[in-house]
Amino acid sequence: MEILYKSTRGNGETVTASQAILQGLSPDGGLFVPTEIPQLKKSLKELSLLSYQELAYQVMSSFLTDFTEEELKECIGKAYDSKFDTEEIAPLTEKDGVYFLELFHGATIAFKDMALSILPHLMTVSARKNHEHREIVILTATSGDTGKAAMAGFADVPGTRIIVFYPKNGVSPIQEKQMVTQKGSNTYVVGITGNFDDAQTAVKRMFHDQKLGAELAEAGFLFSSANSINIGRLVPQIVYYVYAYASLLRKGNIQEGEKIQVVVPTGNFGNILAAYYAKQMGLPIERFICASNDNKVLYDFFSTGVYDRNREFILTSSPSMDILISSNLERLIYRIAGEDSSRCKELMEALSSQGRYEITPDMKEQLKDFYGNYASEAETAETIARVFKETGYMLDPHTAVAATVYGKFKAQTGDSLLAVIASTASPYKFTRSVMSALGDQYNDMTDFELVDKLNQLTGTAVPKAIEEIRTASVLHDRVVSAEEMPAAVKEILGI
Ligand SMILES: *Cc1c(COP(=O)(O)O)cnc(C)c1O
Repeated sequence: MEILYKSTRGNGETVTASQAILQGLSPDGGLFVPTEIPQLKKSLKELSLLSYQELAYQVMSSFLTDFTEEELKECIGKAYDSKFDTEEIAPLTEKDGVYFLELFHGATIAFKDMALSILPHLMTVSARKNHEHREIVILTATSGDTGKAAMAGFADVPGTRIIVFYPKNGVSPIQEKQMVTQKGSNTYVVGITGNFDDAQTAVKRMFHDQKLGAELAEAGFLFSSANSINIGRLVPQIVYYVYAYASLLRKGNIQEGEKIQVVVPTGNFGNILAAYYAKQMGLPIERFICASNDNKVLYDFFSTGVYDRNREFILTSSPSMDILISSNLERLIYRIAGEDSSRCKELMEALSSQGRYEITPDMKEQLKDFYGNYASEAETAETIARVFKETGYMLDPHTAVAATVYGKFKAQTGDSLLAVIASTASPYKFTRSVMSALGDQYNDMTDFELVDKLNQLTGTAVPKAIEEIRTASVLHDRVVSAEEMPAAVKEILGI
């Protein structure tokens, strides 16, 4: 069965998977969605016998139907290899009565690696398939983790360049150091004097800027996106939910068909949307527990049906979730609007002009599978300290937000199903927040002293990603305002 892609704001025209990956965003400003969600091709029992790579092929080939078997297997082989520090790629760890699905074993120790190690390969194959000879310029706004993971994926990939914009004062010191030390002759990092939403909005604007697009085409460049709006990121993220279920089944923790809960620390709504697609493929998931930090726009949305970004932007210890415009929610809105793209477009236009929209009771009714809640900074720190004290397992602040929210869900509902928490970053990426959750005795230490202390306390090896930046020199120091971003891009590309 061929799966095509259409825009959430379009009038039904379709493109192939490789075209959708190449374009990133639809020219009408909408996001690409599959015309149909394919069903899992094999039984859960059969899937439970597969390796991560084999399972990735099963899931991804159902969505990317214009890729040949050879092309897709080659992409998968190049992505999920020894860059990951475990053969399992996405191992499950049982602690504190739940299963943590560890998505941080890749090159940059955050879950973005799961999709961004394969996206560059999907994109270069897509370019070849569509006879695209222009150089692909990846423009990316990052709240901290995407930028580094995207650069690690695209560095020195022929035919591509990558420009990353990050909020200068909105990422952790280690996240910043990881980015500004990035090697590769085709990588560019720019700090902006604004927050993530400013960066993301300006990037989206550049994609829609027809004059800029024409200038680029003239100079032999084509913009594309590595942000989680690209279906080339969404599809690889479905894999690990299926893999988690398959692993639980293989180990006898659940029976075939038994439902599980999935808990996701959420920012741009990409990770949790992948879980939603996994359920539609036939994976037995009961509910999607959407965890937010103090930027609780999604919690308010699930409780009231009103999405309202008109509020203070709060910097928290989980910076990758400091987001007020969750771009991928548009795909869910489209779905619950009965795939009515004009309705979806209206709501998204209201979001950009008034900063808010309200869904109908009918649409809200279709969100029953979602549970939203949030964790304050104090609650997040308490969870890190408690779980460490009771189990010796250290959670990063994003995962701790999810664990806190799961605790609230359980307390409110008395639920007893097995729960999988998407564990999205290594604690080594957020050492200062993690260590200060344990008490203020570590406050005077430098970031790398904290790394060593964390190593001593947990006995877990310091990841290569951290060792690498200890002594690396700063290669990128450009800082601009959000308004200056298009000029910075032109300067970088020499046009
Ligand atoms: C990006 C990120 C998230 C949020 O994921 P979304 O797909 O944007 O919802 C959560 N935790 C970490 C560590 C991340 O890097």
